[in-house]
Amino acid sequence: MLGLLWGTGCERSVSVPVAPEMPVATEAKPSSPFGSEGSQGLPNLGLLKNAITAYHDSGAWNADIAAVAADAMRYLSTMAPGEGKPALVLDIDETSLSNWPNLKSSDYGYVSAVWNAWVNTASAPANEPVRDLYRYAKQHQIAVFFITARPESQRAVTEKNLRAAGYDGWDGLFFQPDDYKETSKVPYKSGERRKITERGYRILANVGDQQSDLLGGYAERTFKLPNPAYYIP
Ligand SMILES: [Mg+2]
Repeated sequence: MLGLLWGTGCERSVSVPVAPEMPVATEAKPSSPFGSEGSQGLPNLGLLKNAITAYHDSGAWNADIAAVAADAMRYLSTMAPGEGKPALVLDIDETSLSNWPNLKSSDYGYVSAVWNAWVNTASAPANEPVRDLYRYAKQHQIAVFFITARPESQRAVTEKNLRAAGYDGWDGLFFQPDDYKETSKVPYKSGERRKITERGYRILANVGDQQSDLLGGYAERTFKLPNPAYYIP
């Protein structure tokens, strides 16, 4: 079979071979490693949990966090001159702190009483690559603000946990107001960033594990950390 290929700006046509019609492949696609359940092809939750645990235990999760934190650090180190006092914004859970011990012991479930008891232990370890980013910022006169969806009532225990994990000297720590009614965290978190910029800061980088940490503007660059364990709108 021959087909015609018309060159742009070229007077002549060129004959090129066209592949003969091939039979449609009928082989089934390889099934997902997480299974395919029912008419909707849903993954199997037990297999997903196993995969997330392997992602953590292999060190790959931390390596992926480290790669993103390194990107953010590079961005801070090469920041273009601009108006305003430079600033970094960090989320807390699964960003600055890892709740892995609780995720594992609760089998990735969320029960508010269990979660609050865990928060009250103030024992979440740092995500070390993010702590390195924090320290880099502080050493380079870049202000650091935490914006968390934890409630104001957890301020004392959260500050205690951050200090125990090696964070200190932050420039602001914002908690979700008790009367916040929105389903999405975006209005709250972007609103706090707006207030920070209104105070004369220029937010160079905003780092979080949820898209809702990052949407809504008021940051030059956003950096998304991986978190396959839960989703917050
Ligand atoms: Mg988070």
